[in-house]
Amino acid sequence: MYTAKHPIHRRTFLKTSATALAVASTGGTVGIAADRAASVQTVLGPVAPDELGMVLMHEHAPLVDWSELYEFKPAPLTPAVRKEMLENSARMLRQFQNSLGSDQSPGAIVECTPIRVGRYPNLMVELARRLKCHLIAATGFWCEAFAPQHPWAIRLGLEKNGIDKIARLYIREIREGMEDPSGAWGEKFTAVKAGIIKIGTSAYMTPSERRCNTAAAIASAETGCPITTHTTDGGGLEQAHLLLKAGAKPERIIIGHMGNKDDREQDEAYAYHRQLVELGCYVQFDRVGHDKYTVEKCARQIKRLTDAGFARQVLVGHDWAPYFYRGQFDPKTPNDKIDAWTFKESDFTIVPRQLVPELKKSGVTAADIRTITIENPARVLAF
Ligand SMILES: [Zn+2]
Repeated sequence: MYTAKHPIHRRTFLKTSATALAVASTGGTVGIAADRAASVQTVLGPVAPDELGMVLMHEHAPLVDWSELYEFKPAPLTPAVRKEMLENSARMLRQFQNSLGSDQSPGAIVECTPIRVGRYPNLMVELARRLKCHLIAATGFWCEAFAPQHPWAIRLGLEKNGIDKIARLYIREIREGMEDPSGAWGEKFTAVKAGIIKIGTSAYMTPSERRCNTAAAIASAETGCPITTHTTDGGGLEQAHLLLKAGAKPERIIIGHMGNKDDREQDEAYAYHRQLVELGCYVQFDRVGHDKYTVEKCARQIKRLTDAGFARQVLVGHDWAPYFYRGQFDPKTPNDKIDAWTFKESDFTIVPRQLVPELKKSGVTAADIRTITIENPARVLAF
């Protein structure tokens, strides 16, 4: 079984001096220094927040698997499939590592795959051990925007004190370790801790999503762990208000998937982003490079926020999932045979290699770019 101790220390030590120096030289230590005692919970153990470098705040690696959402067994991970997933994911994430300057290294990704949607804690540990960049995993149940809500989430939520039971599960995954999907639901747990809570909503929040999300606010208030969200064509304000009402602190809330018709009407939805940051939450442009989220468009939206003085509340990422298993059955296309892993070559370097230059070109200052890509993640991920 996995133990979290040794691999981290030497690496951590070697990284410290360069990163600390770089942060100090830009005068950007304020937010980080205030949280000096807090650490970021990676799958290999705690790391000081100023040792992350550039962070991609919403990714999936190696895989996402929707099988259990349709009440099927998870897709088989044969030794050959596992090996291929690890090799390909490590290769693509090394491209990200190698794209970073010494002041942005070693880099980190937040692995946002929720409970029982292809989240294999021990596989993430194996992946992280092959890399210099850090990997932070998530607890939390996903939404039912594209597939049914996970039946475990529904079952738990409908029990007596159901919201609290879901919150206890999240808290256990943050404090002791994430559930091991090789057992029945809730039967086995690993010692690999989650470092963020991932939740989501459909276009409008469903009753089960509401229970799972309220539980996230309770778990965040109790542990200090940040919450990151999936939104579906908007709904971020509804999420933020629910989370705040249920006790989460605004500076622990990241509203995700910004960048396309977020208010359901305006393509660039600036007023919506503005309302979210005025509540004190982070807004996350985490699909940079996708079709409707071009680099130029994301840069333009981010520029409007930095111009208004909100650089400290912006985060970025790609939302890539190299391996995806949709499930043996999709009710929308019941005749399609889809019982296979799909692989998509994923470019995790779009943020450092394309977005950063585009932000510079559009007039965002180097200090603000550093705030968005390095200092904000360090601040929000530390608890
Ligand atoms: Zn995602």
